[in-house]
Amino acid sequence: MIMGASGSKIEKALGDQFPEGEHYFGLENFGNTCYCNSVLQALYFCLPFRDQLLDYYSQNKSVGESEENLLTCLAELFTQINSQKKKTGVIAPKRFVQRVKKQNELFRSYMHQDAHEFLNFLLNELVDILEKEAKASEAKASKTVSGNQGQEKVSNGSINGPVNGTTPPIVTWVHKIFQGTLTNETKCLRCETITARDETFLDLSLDIEQNSSITSCLRNFSSTETLNAEDKFFCDKCCSLQEAQKRMKVKSAPRILALHLKRFKYIEQLGRYKKLSYRVVFPLELKLCNTTDDAPNAEAEYSLFAVVVHVGSGPNHGHYVSLVKSHNHWLFFDDENVEIIDESVVQTFFGSTQEYSNNTDHGYILFYESSDPKAQTD
Ligand SMILES: [Zn+2]
Repeated sequence: MIMGASGSKIEKALGDQFPEGEHYFGLENFGNTCYCNSVLQALYFCLPFRDQLLDYYSQNKSVGESEENLLTCLAELFTQINSQKKKTGVIAPKRFVQRVKKQNELFRSYMHQDAHEFLNFLLNELVDILEKEAKASEAKASKTVSGNQGQEKVSNGSINGPVNGTTPPIVTWVHKIFQGTLTNETKCLRCETITARDETFLDLSLDIEQNSSITSCLRNFSSTETLNAEDKFFCDKCCSLQEAQKRMKVKSAPRILALHLKRFKYIEQLGRYKKLSYRVVFPLELKLCNTTDDAPNAEAEYSLFAVVVHVGSGPNHGHYVSLVKSHNHWLFFDDENVEIIDESVVQTFFGSTQEYSNNTDHGYILFYESSDPKAQTD
């Protein structure tokens, strides 16, 4: 373990304002694993997520090596950070990184990886593991009818088993934290029938434009698109392909809203991906306005608590760092190093108005927490 000099600097800077029970630990880099470290820091400071993992660890401590998976490794890592005697320092997330590489060959090389792809992979993997566990404990519970006391259910929809042959989806705590629902409305321009189709998401990927803001990106995300020519819509009522208007709205907003800015764009003429360094303003407080009118949390309000930043000018090389808000202080995590930064520094990660700029540190994944107390209780 390396003793981070930056750690003691934070302790000095915060003095007796150092939040009680909190730990600011850097993460060792095992050769281009900054994509993983930056996402881990953002998730560690996502408190509902951290709490669930700490609970999970304390309930499953006795799990043997053979049953090791990404969830147990992550729960172990978070517990390790949380139970440090020291307030600051550096931790090596070795077992977790090894598990990631074992599980997914995409992340096995020492090449530069995409932090958003990693976040996606991780959350989906955790969902899979939790769903399997919920199914297994259900099967156990149905065998021994009275034997399920004291067993906490991870699922909340499928306790009574299949009804009329359809199994309701298992809602894990990962869903409860990150999942929202989009509704995709398509209106046939001939008969005006509206077809609505819902889909769930764990994060939203947004197209970006130069000199824009998250609010305008979200507005564009929900803007009306016309389906015509080659791209007509099959209307069930007209029983034929018709021109249609399509729009996507947020039907239920998640507790934690993860927004991915599509900064890596495939440029046909170049035959490769290019990084868009566009300036996209992300506010500390965000109002989600592209919700459906009948959404229970229309005009959902959010506060920014973490940003994964891509550093560098191209998609195939570079570095990831993260900005995290903890107990009203902003922290800057760069692998082993942790620093306190002023809130005003956050805006230096918006992007650049010119294509070639010395500043290549750009907000890439934004994490917002709902300020609605109703959303916190579930
Ligand atoms: Zn129609």
